[in-house]
Amino acid sequence: MPLFCAEYLAGLVGLQQLGADDGWEDATAAGTAGAADAAAVADTDTIAAIVTGAAAGAVSIIRLSGADAVPIAQQVFQPAGGGRAAGNGWEPESHRVYYGRAVDAAGATLDEVLLLAMLEPRSYTAEDVIEVHTHGGGVSAQRVLQRCLEAGARLARPGEFTLRAFLNGRLDLSQAESVAQLIDARTVAAADSALAGLGGGLGREVQEMRRECVDLLVEMDARLDFDEDLPPLDVPALVQRVARLGQRLERTLQTARQGQLLRAGLQVALVGRPNVGKSSLLNALSGTERAIVTDIAGTTRDIVEAGIVIGGVPITLLDTAGLRDSGDLVEQIGVERSLAAARQADIVLMVVDGETGWTDGDAEIFQTVFGAGPARGERGLDSDWGSGDEGGGGEGASSSGGSEGSNGSSGSRGRAPALLVLNKCDLSVHRAQQAQQHGSSAQHESRAGSCDEAAAAAGVPAAAVAQFAAAVQTSAATKEGLEDLRSAVLQLAGAPQLASGGVGWAVNERQAEALIRAQEALQRVQASIADELPLDFWTIDLRAATLALGEVSGDDVTEEVLDSIFSRFCIGK
Ligand code: GDP
Repeated sequence: MPLFCAEYLAGLVGLQQLGADDGWEDATAAGTAGAADAAAVADTDTIAAIVTGAAAGAVSIIRLSGADAVPIAQQVFQPAGGGRAAGNGWEPESHRVYYGRAVDAAGATLDEVLLLAMLEPRSYTAEDVIEVHTHGGGVSAQRVLQRCLEAGARLARPGEFTLRAFLNGRLDLSQAESVAQLIDARTVAAADSALAGLGGGLGREVQEMRRECVDLLVEMDARLDFDEDLPPLDVPALVQRVARLGQRLERTLQTARQGQLLRAGLQVALVGRPNVGKSSLLNALSGTERAIVTDIAGTTRDIVEAGIVIGGVPITLLDTAGLRDSGDLVEQIGVERSLAAARQADIVLMVVDGETGWTDGDAEIFQTVFGAGPARGERGLDSDWGSGDEGGGGEGASSSGGSEGSNGSSGSRGRAPALLVLNKCDLSVHRAQQAQQHGSSAQHESRAGSCDEAAAAAGVPAAAVAQFAAAVQTSAATKEGLEDLRSAVLQLAGAPQLASGGVGWAVNERQAEALIRAQEALQRVQASIADELPLDFWTIDLRAATLALGEVSGDDVTEEVLDSIFSRFCIGK
């Protein structure tokens, strides 16, 4: 490392922690620099909480962490069997399990328990950790926890164990956030993605990008002060490095969509005339008999919901009442709710009977639901896509009646991207003719093409076909085309890779926001170089990029940010 590094690193705003010339490796290792910055939020109390949550179970676990965990355990726990382990002289060995009694101050038994000791630094928090396994059901755990508090522990705040793991350099900030994502995961794919984050993939990527920023900054800053003594900056090489960094940031940001989908899921509404097969499709996709299927038009009068998972994305499928003019009041209310659901959905599937083809009724529905036409492509990251809808989307839809979308504008909600589903393809003569023309082993792309042709053959006007992102032929009866429909939904949602089971780590909204700031700062650096502005302009924005990356890795994170991240954790984590 060049000699000037130490002074310059020490001088960089927000990078003071890198000051020592031996500081590189340490400071860029997991969370250590952030630990120094955030020390104010830490204290030396020994904390305790029930970590097994409120759900009933056979066993509950109380976790203690801190310098007094062992002395507190010595007051609360009496090992069984006497001999070497028993009595006041009991000292737990790390990573051993002890059987005994939890006792009150007078020595009366509170519960029969197992005690597990994990002494620093080989524990989750890197502090002394003691876990006491009590009988489940709540009362035993509460009594033992109360006893630990009397013996000197303090009740842990939400996320405080993980905060300590971060502050003690055991996890970097992105790993700590992955812990929360793992706990909140609603699907296997979401859990796999969180595990990939916990493995440190995102943290390493961000650390490397931040380090590259710091390297560039050091080179530039050195020229500002020692211009005479150093060779001139290799500007073309520098431009290339900044561009490569920008591309790397872009690739990292592309995971945000996947993360958002895995977390928040999607609402998908089925709309169409009565009897086109909406309920049958909901049943076929969910593998249940949630919706009543009859050939009597108008059977589905309210919204039927089914939770399904496509490529790891939790999807609330809404089967709406068949849309038609109805004199029946109940059915009419159902129709209104359908329209509201379609307007609030993230994706709309307009189902058409492929056998009878496009009718005036379909044209009316198309006009009513989509108005000026559905949005053809996927929604952008900065849209209201999925925001605030976590888990409760379906409920909102079915109870919303005629209310407007969550962004307060039914008009823009009405532009949810949509797929045209030509159902009953097993009965469709058009399709049979087509199969003859194209051969039944058509590849996916030609199949997509053939879907458009099938739509045309079914009499769907070209102007309407053009408004849909894609057309898919399905048969709810034979299950044909359902796989195509699933991947079309993922494609439209902007996460086609999930269709092939490719789940890696993904940035969350907070991280994406910081990465976007880093990206914008790099773009400003590029503009300053292109405009031949003085070197200080380049360094201002490069420093901003470095700080934004540090907010993700935890190297440059404020107390408020830490508070807001960890307060979202559950107690005991
Ligand atoms: P909805 O009113 O749009 O929900 O339509 P349903 O799901 O209730 O279906 C109406 C009728 O069409 C029922 O008799 C279904 O068995 C039948 N049906 C639905 N989908 C298909 C399909 O793909 N192929 C065939 N042959 N019949 C279907």
